[in-house]
Amino acid sequence: MDLTTPLTYVKGIGPARAAMLEAKGLLTVEDLLGYAPFRYEDRSNTKTIAQLAPGEMATVIAEVRSVKMSGFKRRSLGMFEARFTDSSRAILAGKWFHGAYLANVLSEGMKLALYGKVEFDSYAGELTMLHPEFELLTGDDEDGEAALHVGRIVPIYEGAGKLTTRIFRTLIHRILGSIEPVEDLLPPFLRARLKFPDRWSAIQNIHFPPPESDLRLLNAFRSQAQYRLIYEEFFWLECGVALKRAKARAIPGIAFELNARVREQIKAMLPFKPTGAQKKVIKEIADDMAAPHPMNRLLQGDVGSGKTIVAAEAAVIAIENGYQVAVLAPTEILATQHSFTFKRIFEKLGYTTLLLTGSFGAREKAHMKKQLAEGEVQVAIGTHALIQKDVEFKNLGLAIIDEQHRFGVLQRLGLAKKGVTPDVLVMTATPIPRTLAMTIYGDLDVSIIDELPPGRKPIVTKHSTADAIEQVLSFMKRQVEEGRQAYVVYPVIEESETQAMKAAQQEYEHLSKEVFPQFSIGLMHGRLGAAEKEEVMQRFKDGQIQILVSTTVIEVGVDVPNASVMIVEQAERFGLAQLHQLRGRVGRGAEQSYCILVTEKMNDTARERIRTLVESTDGFYISEMDLKLRNAGEVFGTKQSGLPTMCLADLRRDAEILEIARLDAMSFIEHPPSDEALRAAVAYIRDHWQRRYALVTVG
Ligand code: ADP
Ligand code: MG
Repeated sequence: MDLTTPLTYVKGIGPARAAMLEAKGLLTVEDLLGYAPFRYEDRSNTKTIAQLAPGEMATVIAEVRSVKMSGFKRRSLGMFEARFTDSSRAILAGKWFHGAYLANVLSEGMKLALYGKVEFDSYAGELTMLHPEFELLTGDDEDGEAALHVGRIVPIYEGAGKLTTRIFRTLIHRILGSIEPVEDLLPPFLRARLKFPDRWSAIQNIHFPPPESDLRLLNAFRSQAQYRLIYEEFFWLECGVALKRAKARAIPGIAFELNARVREQIKAMLPFKPTGAQKKVIKEIADDMAAPHPMNRLLQGDVGSGKTIVAAEAAVIAIENGYQVAVLAPTEILATQHSFTFKRIFEKLGYTTLLLTGSFGAREKAHMKKQLAEGEVQVAIGTHALIQKDVEFKNLGLAIIDEQHRFGVLQRLGLAKKGVTPDVLVMTATPIPRTLAMTIYGDLDVSIIDELPPGRKPIVTKHSTADAIEQVLSFMKRQVEEGRQAYVVYPVIEESETQAMKAAQQEYEHLSKEVFPQFSIGLMHGRLGAAEKEEVMQRFKDGQIQILVSTTVIEVGVDVPNASVMIVEQAERFGLAQLHQLRGRVGRGAEQSYCILVTEKMNDTARERIRTLVESTDGFYISEMDLKLRNAGEVFGTKQSGLPTMCLADLRRDAEILEIARLDAMSFIEHPPSDEALRAAVAYIRDHWQRRYALVTVG
């Protein structure tokens, strides 16, 4: 048996167990050894029941003395109660609400380890644990490995299907006993400098910590063994990022010329004076475009910071050099809006633009494709439809991807199929904490717009409950009477745009017929055709529509500076980042803007989200809070965002280890101690880490 052995060859793993393991992504011996415990329990000198004190978290080893169900058994609403005893002869009660299922699990005479908070039930006059975690210590014991589970610090694993923590413990112990010590590939100089234990001891120790281990360190994931393995995961990940970056650097690209004509054209195009931050980032972009390798740059800037005009400047550079530009947007509405904006500002320069989205007919599309292939059009703006296989450009020089976070992982866009590799500028308004940015966008260069255009007033954000909607509406009324415009947004409920559409439709009828017959009210949702969407947006932009009732299709990018009121209905259903984006639709002009979050029922995290928004308009703070309230995978949707999956490492908990590992990895790849060491690292990464590098790939 070695690390590559499929788990089906391990004693005790039949087809059923193998399937459950596979569902967790565990296929080989190596995978299972990387399945780290999420918690440890000290069962080396557990207390007896008589020694327990109310209020403490404790583990006891005890035997079931009696069990009983009370309440409504059939509706499984009842409470399951068990009484436990041990050598101290004292009694501990365990109680589980909705515990009917336990009647088939626990019975008199069974021995188990119980872990939970000890409480004193003064009514019954006994020590109690409510919903303790427990592990049966009798039963299907596989060849006398019982000593694994008590009398030591025991690892607690997350279960999988019918595989309990106890089964994991047994299987992993068995594997550790039957394979050769694994090789240590971390460069020896790093291992020595960081005083790391070798890999084999580290692996053994995370599963079965030596008796003298500090339980607190273990549960904080900071034992030497854990630290080393976390570091190692980050180290290889960041080596992969560094290699990928180096490789991208080596590809020949276009060296755009920045001559006087380019500067003149940019000047002629700019509708306003760029902010200092905009100037800074356009310089970074221009320098990158002038270099003879393809640009891979991320432009980060909070909602409303003015990314569009920066993109337009980059486009001018490409076009004046005789190349075409593609602008990609995640929604039809945004693509349409960009098409307006770019058409308007590029008209003066004599450039031709074209809008290509999914809702055009085959004939129109065919015509547009021909125009692109023959180079009749300089700027193509579109949704995914623009990057279909059959779309060809004559000489694409620059691809701009707006609101990248909404696209998910950018697979290779297929933009570079023919000829030279174009430069790529990726834009996002989702500010993400530094450590995450390093991981997700590690292979991109980053430019940040950290300043809003002048004259903006911070958006005032208020919370209102649904029963006070009258006041909210009369506030909106006053604003509209003063010449402002407003959005009223409905959430997509359970991924069903239809329901949200219905809600928006109803509200539209209600507002336009009953509440505000004097105002012109518009309706926007995803089911409208492209032309209708375009018309509604245009009328809203022109001020003909005063109140726009919409689903979240207007979430990203939409830019109507005169709109100053954003009312979000059922705001408790939205995520933090989404609310921040929605709020970003207002506050784009000189007028004071307002965002009113209307909620119906809230739980604690929803309340926390609303509070965060009312408190702050700072995108970075909001994304930090988002990360606190959810886990990284959820925030960025591990699969979609390309956030690599980690075994032991946790991007939130282990940010400072990531920073260290990243620096070490970069200097290792740039100045490897020997060619041999670099070759070994590259081979290791290729064999082991490839599948985790679903990092953002562009171009
Ligand atoms: P985002 O970064 O969210 O894409 P936009 O590019 O849509 O932001 O810009 C938001 C608004 O600010 C637009 O109406 C735009 O015309 C305006 N704007 C951008 N830069 C400036 C500037 N330097 N001075 C004045 N207005 C600006
Ligand atoms: Mg934008």
